[in-house]
Amino acid sequence: MSDIRFADSHAHLDMPEFQTDQSQVIQRAWEAGVELIINIGISLANAAEVLNTAQKYDQIYGTVGIHPHGVGQLQETGIAELSRWATSPRVVAIGEIGLDYYRQRAPAEVQKHWFQRQLGLAQSLNKPVVIHNREATADTLAILRKYAPGLPGGVMHCFGGSYAEARAFLDLGLVLSLSGVLTYPNADPLREVVKKLPLEGLLIETDAPYLAPQPRRGKRNEPAYLLYTAQTLADLKGVDLATVAQHTWNNTRRVFGLEAAP
Ligand SMILES: [Zn+2]
Ligand SMILES: [Zn+2]
Repeated sequence: MSDIRFADSHAHLDMPEFQTDQSQVIQRAWEAGVELIINIGISLANAAEVLNTAQKYDQIYGTVGIHPHGVGQLQETGIAELSRWATSPRVVAIGEIGLDYYRQRAPAEVQKHWFQRQLGLAQSLNKPVVIHNREATADTLAILRKYAPGLPGGVMHCFGGSYAEARAFLDLGLVLSLSGVLTYPNADPLREVVKKLPLEGLLIETDAPYLAPQPRRGKRNEPAYLLYTAQTLADLKGVDLATVAQHTWNNTRRVFGLEAAP
């Protein structure tokens, strides 16, 4: 196993769920071969912690952004603050940002405004983006058609859509990240879609502490559990685990601009 390296493209290591044992969680990730973790920000309030964790570990990088759940009270000064956090060399993307019409904690129009504002910021900083889309695919696509051409890349995180939607995002130059949902018994439609997608366009993620893969479902998720999703992807594509690890590792490094990193 020691020559197989995995990249977790999306984990929230600074959620309260990891407050008491974050260093052990990270240690277990390394031991499982998960040797690169993108630590995803969700608010201005947690940007300092996300960045602090990324500074503490060579193999952890951070992102900063305001999740659609948190845009209700956002003001333009928040974008300036975000921009300051994003100048750190340990911050590799703006995210997670996007639209969530399932919970809809802020009105759709408000979500759309700040999604676009943060996409504009990513363009001006020449940073890739990490996108959250829940039950808002049509609006997400319409907005990305405007902004994606001016971005250096981006990730549709926790992708769970149709083949046509997957193609539309890939055609915009984005990559799709697959979570533990891929392992769930009711995810046959997603597995059928994934069978047809090229490994070159795919990442894997835990979204820890959420969405634990099937064998750990209902428990707190952590980066070490990425291997269940990786194995499911390998089975679907008819390749070995090492091939999935290699492709998703390379894709993660490419999209986040880490190809030259040690
Ligand atoms: Zn999300
Ligand atoms: Zn997330």
